[in-house]
Amino acid sequence: SIPLGYFGGIGAASRNGILFKGSDFLDRLRRMDTLFMDKTGTLTMGNFEVQGVHSINGFDRDELVQLAASLEQHSSHPIGRAILQHTNGQPLQSVARQQEISGKGLRGTIGNKEVLVGNRSLLADHNIRAHTNELQSPHTQVHVAVDGLHAGTISIADQVKADSGHAVRGLRDRGIGTLTMLSGDSQKVVDHVAGMLGLDQAHGDLLPDQKYARVEQALAADHPVGFIGDGVNDAPVITLADVGIAMGGIGSDATVETADVVIQTDQPSKIPVAIDIARFTHKVIW
Ligand code: ADP
Ligand code: MG
Repeated sequence: SIPLGYFGGIGAASRNGILFKGSDFLDRLRRMDTLFMDKTGTLTMGNFEVQGVHSINGFDRDELVQLAASLEQHSSHPIGRAILQHTNGQPLQSVARQQEISGKGLRGTIGNKEVLVGNRSLLADHNIRAHTNELQSPHTQVHVAVDGLHAGTISIADQVKADSGHAVRGLRDRGIGTLTMLSGDSQKVVDHVAGMLGLDQAHGDLLPDQKYARVEQALAADHPVGFIGDGVNDAPVITLADVGIAMGGIGSDATVETADVVIQTDQPSKIPVAIDIARFTHKVIW
């Protein structure tokens, strides 16, 4: 039987916008000492904005944006939404054989052109070298290629949530030993965000199954391992972690469904709040 005190803990959590899917997770969260965190939408706002467009190989900047936006028109990825917002009402073209490559970007045929929009790794898969040097700026570079030729980059930026700083300090104060960010974004962007927040480790350029493998490696430890994320891609890792946490405020249904703990706002600082509730509940019971 479940000690009554657990119901008190779960109730207190729910009044704070934190949903526990069972009393086991209160216990695991209380003992958790390693936390993996997704970047986009979890620690950052996930509202990308275009900062600049740089075209090469004779392509026109408006043409570059139009091709990219046409490819992104049905994508729900925050990068796609930023590019679509940047078209200023330019008409989009129809796309044939559109394909989303998870953690990399999109490919499709527009008119008689083969178009790619995504990261360096997507271009490399098609034997295309990205020539533009990734500037020192901490922006995400979205590459566009047309018929095997690099056509340029769209530089986009996101903002770190002010609340992420509170979250990191709160987690440190509660003795969480290792805070690691996992992201599909480039290492340069990831290092910038991790530096601002003072995280222990930050791994970028990861495909969804590489994020999974990182968490899997950590599971051998004696203490429970947590993961917090918001995207559809994150559902498998959330299931894998001892404490899978979804940011439900903006998260996808899949992550909310598979999570052990759901934070119903966009505030990662609810994790230290949840830890306090878990620890207090334990004291009341034992
Ligand atoms: P995250 O770990 O930040 O959630 P994703 O796994 O969604 O990142 O994507 C990783 C990287 O793949 C992005 O930073 C971007 O470079 C590229 N990418 C993914 N989806 C798209 C898209 N729809 N358009 C352009 N680039 C994309
Ligand atoms: Mg994500």
